Amino acid sequence: MSNETRKPIISGNWKMNHNHFEAIQSVQKLAYLLTKDDFAAVDVTIHPPFTDLRSVQTLIDADELKFILGAQHCHESDSGAFTGEVSAAFLAKLNVNYVIVGHSERREIFGETSELVQSKIVAIQKNKMTPIICVGETLAEREAGKTYDKVLGQLRSALEKRSHEQIKSMVIAYEPIWAIGTGKTATADDAQRVISAIREEIAKISSATVASSVRLQYGGSVKASNISEIMSQPDIDGVLVGGASLDSAEFARICQYRLRP
Ligand code: PEP
Repeated sequence: MSNETRKPIISGNWKMNHNHFEAIQSVQKLAYLLTKDDFAAVDVTIHPPFTDLRSVQTLIDADELKFILGAQHCHESDSGAFTGEVSAAFLAKLNVNYVIVGHSERREIFGETSELVQSKIVAIQKNKMTPIICVGETLAEREAGKTYDKVLGQLRSALEKRSHEQIKSMVIAYEPIWAIGTGKTATADDAQRVISAIREEIAKISSATVASSVRLQYGGSVKASNISEIMSQPDIDGVLVGGASLDSAEFARICQYRLRP
């Protein structure tokens, strides 16, 4: 399916890196490297740790930067006795627009189930933000030929009871777990195959029109050296970048992929 009508979205997931001083420096450097044309061509979302959000939000507002503020996680309740957690409602008050949900590190390390992921998606959308929903298979699942079962199963659960409009506004990130932070990347063809299966499944769950508008990302060791090939695939509308987003110069080159062959 052609991606001509879907604006590319490039997201930097800093994970638990950069304190708020480093965050400010990093965003300032990135702002210096990116041009008006870059922001016209791609949406750039930045997902710092919670403790950096206020500083980055203030910088974006004060300097009228075009970055879109994102978070990495949220709690599904608006408030309550959940020590250490941060609600989607609080994030919305900080002008956060995108929230990553179902990242494999949350699912695998913190035991987040598909049901929990679904309740977080509901909370994110209730607070008028966009979820970036991560799905992906482990190496063992891939080797056992279970990639599609796993990925499409996670997708079906995430989209359960969501309206056409709600599905249309989501971002789905296909992140094979074996490719995250390992330096191994799915080949662009491989990523395209799984991502096009995700789009077909969305068409079945919702409609062809919704499936053709929803933006789908690839994530897993994306770098400036492999971004162009990944973005040349017809169903890939963007990337979710971990390690390489910590280096502003590298991340800027990723955002400017269209300027290189
Ligand atoms: C991620 O954190 O979602 C990710 C894809 O990480 P990396 O780019 O480092 O593989």
